[in-house]
Amino acid sequence: MTRIGIAGIAIESSTFSPHRTTVDDFRVTRGADLLARYSFLDPSVEWVPLLHAVSLPGGAVTEETYAALSEEIYARLRSCGPLDGLFFDIHGAMSVVGRVDVEADLIEGIRAVIGPDVLVSASMDLHGNVSHRLARALDLITCYRKAPHTDAWDTRERAVRNLVDRLRDGGKPLKAWVQVPVLLPGEKTSTRIEPARSVYALVDEVEALPGVLDAAIWVGYAWADEPRCQAAIVVTGDDLSVITAQASRLAQAYWDARHDFAFVAPTGSLAECVTQALASPARPFFISDSGDNPTAGGAGDTSWSLRELLGMPSVLAQNTIYAQIVDPAATAAAVRAGIGQQVTVSVGGHIDSGPCGPVPLTAVVEAIDANDPVAGVAVVLGVQGLKVIVTERRKPYHLESDFLDLGLSPRTADLVIVKIGYLEPELYDMAADWLLALTPGGVDQDLLRLGHVGIQRPMFPFDPDMPPPSFTPVSTW
Ligand SMILES: [Zn+2]
Repeated sequence: MTRIGIAGIAIESSTFSPHRTTVDDFRVTRGADLLARYSFLDPSVEWVPLLHAVSLPGGAVTEETYAALSEEIYARLRSCGPLDGLFFDIHGAMSVVGRVDVEADLIEGIRAVIGPDVLVSASMDLHGNVSHRLARALDLITCYRKAPHTDAWDTRERAVRNLVDRLRDGGKPLKAWVQVPVLLPGEKTSTRIEPARSVYALVDEVEALPGVLDAAIWVGYAWADEPRCQAAIVVTGDDLSVITAQASRLAQAYWDARHDFAFVAPTGSLAECVTQALASPARPFFISDSGDNPTAGGAGDTSWSLRELLGMPSVLAQNTIYAQIVDPAATAAAVRAGIGQQVTVSVGGHIDSGPCGPVPLTAVVEAIDANDPVAGVAVVLGVQGLKVIVTERRKPYHLESDFLDLGLSPRTADLVIVKIGYLEPELYDMAADWLLALTPGGVDQDLLRLGHVGIQRPMFPFDPDMPPPSFTPVSTW
């Protein structure tokens, strides 16, 4: 029986965020729990669960955390018996303090145990990065084709199906890899809109060609400061000339579209967005507080936007929801006071104190959820019409139920301001209108003011007048 191991560490982490990700931030699965992650595992294969760890995006992972997780994967590989294949389930934008290109470190560490012959298939987020070292160590490599990532599980299923098929048919596939010196935020590259929609539509075309097994385009990750951070293309298959030509074609298409990528929603400063929202009849009106988006790696406690909102009487007079800010001490103080009581706390700005320190807030405790599986404890602090969600731990507010659980009704609110980039589907469908505020924080959407020094140069848009690159995919390893 064919034996395939499953392992991976999946996180997207910003090196511009002061947050540090530790082992407690990861949901680690082993054994039957790991296998239960996947609904599509072929029963004719013996699946060997090793270790999988996944975390909400955050700041860089501590070296001790990475060492503990990776060493356990290597130890399990040493004792699990011979494998035919390995499914490598990663995000691709993990940063570890003191390392660059840690996914390549991880797969090279795995190769050191399993050797060169075990077929390895990786599934990644299109916001991951693909260095030469990572591509070299993998046999099959693919990524999501949609942002927002409605195809995340389809992608994993495809990575596994291609691996199983290859093990049955025999022979290693060929791969053509090429980087594209363009680094853009995800909020400019949503596949819902042009030009990403058309660029990604080419993936299906290429994949359908004879001699091609899979094609993938990575946008890359803009909030880490490493040489690998840029767009990349990999086409895998059996016809070397076809995969090489098609990798070039996808790279050229991405490059040619570089000037057309624009934010998924109209943008402005927070004050500009609020002014427009208040003047508009559209309700609920959503504003993305994008600089501290926890699902891109923000600390979640950047307090700059909250301070600004508290200073706007016109916002306090509306039915406004602010989701959300992390502050365990303020959350605990609200729980001690109890519902209906007034509290005076200093909120946020402890982890990410760069844009703004803790913000003084005198408010009424309006709701408490003491058992939120992600946030731990979540409370609602009311200041006139402004309802501020404060949480013990970082939590994305992407679903209507996240709000309803706290007695808040975003559908009937005037303004809903969320730490998020592009709106996730439920919020997108609910929003009568939407603006993306370019606020400060660890995942600032204004890349040019972040101060990258470690990325390759020249790079668009950092060097807008750079000469056009020539795309020569690497296909011999
Ligand atoms: Zn992503």
